[in-house]
Amino acid sequence: MLDIAKFDQINPPSRLLMGPGPINADPRVLRAMASQLIGQYDPVMTGYMNQVMELYRGLFNTENRWTMLIDGTSRAGIEAILLSAIRPGDKVLVPVFGRFGHLLCEIARRCRAEVHTIEVPWGDVFTPDQIEDAIKKVKPRLLLTVQGDTSTTMLQPLEQLGEICRRHGVLFYTDATASFGGNALETDAWGLDAASAGLQKCLGGPSGSSPITLSPEFEEIVRRRKCVEEGIRTDEHVDGDDEMIYSNYFDLGMIMDYWGPERLNHHTEATSMLFAARECARLILEEGLDNCIARHELHGAALLAGIQGMGLETFGDLSHKMNNVLGVVIPKDIHGEQVRQMMLNDFSIEIGTSFGPLQGKIWRIGTMGYNARKDCVLQTLTALEAVLNRLGFKSTQGAALQAAWNCYDK
Ligand SMILES: *Cc1c(COP(=O)(O)O)cnc(C)c1O
Repeated sequence: MLDIAKFDQINPPSRLLMGPGPINADPRVLRAMASQLIGQYDPVMTGYMNQVMELYRGLFNTENRWTMLIDGTSRAGIEAILLSAIRPGDKVLVPVFGRFGHLLCEIARRCRAEVHTIEVPWGDVFTPDQIEDAIKKVKPRLLLTVQGDTSTTMLQPLEQLGEICRRHGVLFYTDATASFGGNALETDAWGLDAASAGLQKCLGGPSGSSPITLSPEFEEIVRRRKCVEEGIRTDEHVDGDDEMIYSNYFDLGMIMDYWGPERLNHHTEATSMLFAARECARLILEEGLDNCIARHELHGAALLAGIQGMGLETFGDLSHKMNNVLGVVIPKDIHGEQVRQMMLNDFSIEIGTSFGPLQGKIWRIGTMGYNARKDCVLQTLTALEAVLNRLGFKSTQGAALQAAWNCYDK
């Protein structure tokens, strides 16, 4: 017999999440999520869907009509875009500078793309010339990029890539999950055809919804894909040239018809997540997108000053670091996991570990969304310094805190 008494009510401990995501959700987002459900075709609900499109056009800096949510975590947005754009045999080029570049390759291969990569060592980013040279050589149909790769904490500059892609007739996509809201992203000005994000990094929400935006050219491409059943779409663009999209859930044509005025039934919109996404966008646009990015820059800089103030080394090319996450080299003779455990057990603060070539070599500390705050930065530095001193990495206690504090007084 199942003993229901041993299953307590959910009551997670109060943690300060200072890793590379997820982070603590803004209480306003949690309150929005606790709102009662309404029917999916209730005019209030479809009104909220339209508002979400408008709000996210503001966040993506775009006029793109198709700016909406894909239900699922960030990779749902990635999969919807790649599955809907890539035809079997298409050439794609992926500049890989961390783990999430490999994810794009992996998904593109499942779409039967011919995947070409260029790589730089982890901790670096690409120059526009390196990418253009590869485009000339490979002649891809799509360029798939990651804007901020949390695995290395680096931010790939995208400003010049759209123009390069246009000259060579290449579609330009970026996974902006980790960087969105905390670093500039200019969808239209930078010539992006598609971009996707998530809520659990700089947007201050939970994971489970992926905002995306698609250019009119991208829409044309999706509309050319065949439907499984003839006549499933009402849209006159459908001419069925290209092979069908091998997913129902991620068929962007169907999702556009669901979000558009046709309101053709597809999935049931994840209502509570839409409430969350709407509140995330409202929070940032109330603050001002530029102010929000400046806040991430400020707290990122304070964290960096504190880490350097206690004599720790940082990882990667700092001139290309994301505002919202910092790689910290684990000092010699210190066991990285022991430090993370003490941070969690004694201070209830979570900092991030690392993967692949960086495993056991760096911690990743995030200052993003709701946690891009002075108190969070000062608390984290104080705790980390105390833990390291206790484990034998000697620094002047308080030096980190004062260095970060000075940063705020400037
Ligand atoms: C964190 C992150 C993701 C997360 O994907 P999920 O499906 O939400 O876990 C995706 N891409 C990048 C670049 C990230 O940093």
